[in-house]
Amino acid sequence: MIKQNSCSALGALIPSPLERIKLSHWPSDAPTVLIKRDDLIHPIVSGNKWRKLQYLPLSPTKHAISIGGGHSNHLHALAYLCHESRIKMTALVRGDYSMLPTPMLKDIQQWGCNIQFISKKRYAIRETAEFKAWLNEYFGSNIHFIPEGGSTQYALKGMNNVCLEVAQQTTRKITHFVSPVASGATLAGLISGKSDEQSVIGVAVLKGQHYLEQQVQRFIHENTSNWFIDHTFHHGGYAKTSEKLRQFIDFFQDETHVPIEPVYSAKLFYALDQMIVNKKFGLQDTVVALHTGGLQGARHVKMN
Ligand SMILES: *Cc1c(COP(=O)(O)O)cnc(C)c1O
Repeated sequence: MIKQNSCSALGALIPSPLERIKLSHWPSDAPTVLIKRDDLIHPIVSGNKWRKLQYLPLSPTKHAISIGGGHSNHLHALAYLCHESRIKMTALVRGDYSMLPTPMLKDIQQWGCNIQFISKKRYAIRETAEFKAWLNEYFGSNIHFIPEGGSTQYALKGMNNVCLEVAQQTTRKITHFVSPVASGATLAGLISGKSDEQSVIGVAVLKGQHYLEQQVQRFIHENTSNWFIDHTFHHGGYAKTSEKLRQFIDFFQDETHVPIEPVYSAKLFYALDQMIVNKKFGLQDTVVALHTGGLQGARHVKMN
């Protein structure tokens, strides 16, 4: 058994609830739709980021360093975990927000996380040996570098648990999992955790045809079939939104009382709604939609 870090000591709601939803305009032959409410796992550590960190071996004697954007749900989750575990952490943040810190940056600073702004140029080489050399030169060798999004092999094991929990929570035969995709580790974890006959559909939240498929593939070594990424619902790109998406958020929240945000979950549910209306599923199908959380990261997005 792989050890868990103090994530589980944070008081997490595991297993996360599995709830049925049905929108009023769905056709009579719509599939059964269940939401896996990972957004409810923890009030601060966002859903899939909790799962991705759950098995990460963090050492109290090593300086944890990670990287991301100014609204990153991953940096937010990791900084809270490090704060609670009394682990020194530095967040490398793309761009310079020193004059206008985001809500995320204000939170992590309060939790004692060091913030280091880095140029777009340095951020662009974050997966190279040159970057590793810079890290060691700048921070020394007693560091634990956690890649962007917390996307490690440990993340996949955490995500596998979504499939295991769902199998325990319902007697229905699950035919599909649907999830938003950014770095691809969340989707890869569902793909490696599903059973052979189940399908996984990823909804790209950014423009990344081919690139995202490669990102997912590099996490899964076997040749697993029955998955694909839909690239038609990014609404202009990462963290971009559209009038249609804004209207959908209001409508969806009114009908289901499930909170969603425009960067990830709204794009997922918008896509799922379109797929159902366009009859991409059958009446006998049961679709599990993974609500990955992320409400903290959308605090800056003006909705009106
Ligand atoms: C990070 C994040 C994702 C994307 O997960 P990846 O593993 O990077 O594809 C989806 N939803 C939310 C809320 C996130 O914070």
